[in-house]
Amino acid sequence: QTKNLDISLVKTGCIGFCKEEPIVSVSIPGKALVLLRKVKPDDVERIISLALHGDVPSDRVLCTISDWDHITGNLVYGNEFDTFPEYGEIPFFAHQKKVILRDSGLINPEDIDEYIGIGGYFAAYKALTSMKPDAIIDEVKRSGLRGRGGAGFPAGLKWEITKKAPGEEKFIVCNADEGDPGAYMNRNEMESDPHMLLEGMLIGAYAMGVSEGLIYIRAEYPLAIERLMLALDQARTYGLLGKNIFNTGFDFDIRIATGAGAFVCGESTALAASIEGKTGRPRLRPPRLTEKGVFGKPTDLNNVETWCNVPVIIAKGALWYSSIGAKGNTGTKVFSLVGKVDNIGMVEVPLGTSLHSIIYDIGNGGALGKEVKAVQTGGPSGGCIPVRLFDTPVDFESLNQVGTMMGSGGLVVMDEDTNMVDIARYFINFASGESCGKCVPCREGLKHMLLILNRIVAGKGTRQDIGLLRELAETVQKTSLCGLGQTAPNPVLTTMQYFKEEYDDLISPEA
Ligand code: SF4
Repeated sequence: QTKNLDISLVKTGCIGFCKEEPIVSVSIPGKALVLLRKVKPDDVERIISLALHGDVPSDRVLCTISDWDHITGNLVYGNEFDTFPEYGEIPFFAHQKKVILRDSGLINPEDIDEYIGIGGYFAAYKALTSMKPDAIIDEVKRSGLRGRGGAGFPAGLKWEITKKAPGEEKFIVCNADEGDPGAYMNRNEMESDPHMLLEGMLIGAYAMGVSEGLIYIRAEYPLAIERLMLALDQARTYGLLGKNIFNTGFDFDIRIATGAGAFVCGESTALAASIEGKTGRPRLRPPRLTEKGVFGKPTDLNNVETWCNVPVIIAKGALWYSSIGAKGNTGTKVFSLVGKVDNIGMVEVPLGTSLHSIIYDIGNGGALGKEVKAVQTGGPSGGCIPVRLFDTPVDFESLNQVGTMMGSGGLVVMDEDTNMVDIARYFINFASGESCGKCVPCREGLKHMLLILNRIVAGKGTRQDIGLLRELAETVQKTSLCGLGQTAPNPVLTTMQYFKEEYDDLISPEA
């Protein structure tokens, strides 16, 4: 104030490098963007000094950004600080390909002008004013985009099925009920760039001829809800939601439905029931949601990340999009890399990248110099993969082949100190607590698996327990009604397959 400085402090979402937070980005007109890591209140003076004179507090500079070619608007090209590594040279960022997270941590998620300033809503404008709805669906199909919620169903095909389903009234829904332990990708996407999600839904709604959208989000994400509400208000004010969008005669709006945090409400039929105000319990399929979804109407359900992929596909084209990733697994995937790994953070890589590259090139291996032992993918529904299989490419089919799954994108790293039986017990305890109780195999089977695991971990298990545990796991997997029960035994089955010796070690020889 005394120096009459013109400095703006702008809130952004997360740039993804959680290990180095709090990070402050300093944007100096005519110079580079500088990221300062592990910032403390005492650093304010030095930060202002940097903004004024370009003096770099060398112990805190993480990197400068000069080569991120899509950045425009208020960010500035050119590296003024040659002695410091550039953004692209920091291993954590260098091995990533940011498509969905391209603006996370760089724009103010509470200001629609910043989103528009970097090309936001261009794709919606292009789609609504110059493309036929079927052409949009074809473009999404050609891109190869598969659902990022875990199942990997082709998104464009699901849109087509919903569009062709009989009935006038239909819904599109965004599944933002992210509940896997250790997973926070969707939360980051909504908190950092909420308009990207709204734009994706707007394009999808137009393509499917739907006038009402819903975002089903857990109440435990208050900041994401707040930013989405603000983004919805701003989009309505700018005529991007509501009546006659872009003067095309197309009407569309989105409302938010909050869930109370039951894990099972991420399952499509339970989610639909919860939106209707009923208890969130799964039902038998078919009929699928595309035939009979929310309020009995045909409904297209995609998760946050799937919707977020849509604007860039329309803006840059299916050909561009399908050039990223692997055959049958195009585009990128966002992961939350957590657990006993050195570089904890939000990671985006082309599908088909190996687990090894994510955990060692980006994650820098085990935390505190420890040896990595395994990684859990797919949350409680996934499995634990040992280091010897880290060449496995991260794609839907390859992960299934080693007994786990993509899930929504949680990657929990375990090191040499982790007991894998205890990990299996943790996940079964979680799934058992989240079971809705509707069907016996899941409700009772998981409880009994937990009892056996408790016995084994306490050193009181027997050889017979191991056989019984496997038998129960296979039964629950085969006979449960919904995905929660069908996949809950995966952590047990994979740890029994890959870490059998750790079970054996806990059984006393006489038992
Ligand atoms: Fe409920 Fe579990 Fe049955 Fe799914 S499998 S319906 S969560 S009891």
